[in-house]
Amino acid sequence: MTSDNQPDEVVIKVRADGPYKVTGQVRLTDADGNSLATPDGPLALCRCGRSQTKPYCDRSHRTAPGSTAAVHAGLPRPADGEPYLPGPVFAAPYHFSGDVADRAEPSYGRDDNPTWGRWEAALCELEGGTAVAFSSGMAAISAVLMTQLGPGDVLVAPSDGIYTVRTLAREHLERIGVEVRLVATDDEAIREALPGAKLLWLESPSNPLLDVADISGLAALAREGGTLVAVDNTLATPLRQRPLDLGADYSIASAAKQLTGHSDLVLGHVAAADPERARAIRHWRTTTGAIPGPFEAWLAHRSLATLGLRVERQERTAQALTTMLTARGDVAWARWPGLGCVVSFDLVSADRASAFLAACRMLAEATSFGGVHSSAERRARWGADAVSPGLIRLSVGCEDAHDVLADVAQALDAVA
Ligand code: PLP
Repeated sequence: MTSDNQPDEVVIKVRADGPYKVTGQVRLTDADGNSLATPDGPLALCRCGRSQTKPYCDRSHRTAPGSTAAVHAGLPRPADGEPYLPGPVFAAPYHFSGDVADRAEPSYGRDDNPTWGRWEAALCELEGGTAVAFSSGMAAISAVLMTQLGPGDVLVAPSDGIYTVRTLAREHLERIGVEVRLVATDDEAIREALPGAKLLWLESPSNPLLDVADISGLAALAREGGTLVAVDNTLATPLRQRPLDLGADYSIASAAKQLTGHSDLVLGHVAAADPERARAIRHWRTTTGAIPGPFEAWLAHRSLATLGLRVERQERTAQALTTMLTARGDVAWARWPGLGCVVSFDLVSADRASAFLAACRMLAEATSFGGVHSSAERRARWGADAVSPGLIRLSVGCEDAHDVLADVAQALDAVA
């Protein structure tokens, strides 16, 4: 670096098809450090136009993304005759002749795909880190857990988050000698469990009880003790919370939920603050084959554009619904954490909760959350969460608020 802090030579790892913006002397490489040809003329390194030295919006310019970012994220530079979002590329092998070294082109569909590339570029912008897409949220979660933890390591993970993380920990991590400490999403309990941990896993808000962790405070404490921090950000989405900005090392999500919002795909991703950690995650994906399908990646990218609209509508309705539920005498308690589309409330008994679900006319009885269609389920039916037998996890959709409230009210009246 020169004295005025200008880089002499910037080595930037990018995808072959950008986007990038670079001025001055640069060398572009692919993720494996192989040199790429530097395109002619000034290039947009990051579509936001701010970063001169980083391939994507990242922690060097911490602007919280909004609806505009979600609409434009990851799209190629406009070119006459080209679509806004190119269609999915379906390929197992690609034409690929000659030597392998210093090549940026994809050779095989388990290693790379341009449709994932665009989806990942979008996620990089929204998450503020380097993103790697996976075939599901659990594939993304497994990638972090399995690459970071080995015999003798300690994992601190939520006892009240998505239960498949606990299943994975019990059935696979403990088997190889990882100590698993399960604690509720409660800052004090997490602080107490933290000493000696290799990895702190947070889910905030937690699912289904919607507890919230102090991510920045816990991440600062974890850093002091050399503990890595991963946050499952599925419920909040990067429009409402950016774990990497709050000091986490990894932000993970299931894209089957609000991020894409149409209940028509299963997908997940990991975003890492450190590109080297993202590289290790990508290597895991290539090795294990937990790759996203190109059609799902394309569909996800297409759906991302409406994230801001959906979030605003769903949150407004979720708030109104919680107000209504809290005012009723026949609901033990109702909870909405101030963001996201999930409202949880307690009808105390399994029978009453089941009768409520059967009485709903518009709300679908279904698991998962975040879609445009309002849905609800009795969460205890899975037998995996320590929750009241009458707990309803309701996902507010994009219907008119008065229709959602009216349906819930008439179903509650029917089981009074
Ligand atoms: N994280 C949370 C908070 C979830 O609710 C889920 C699934 O419900 C997952 C992760 C797992 O994601 P997927 O179903 O895409 O594997």
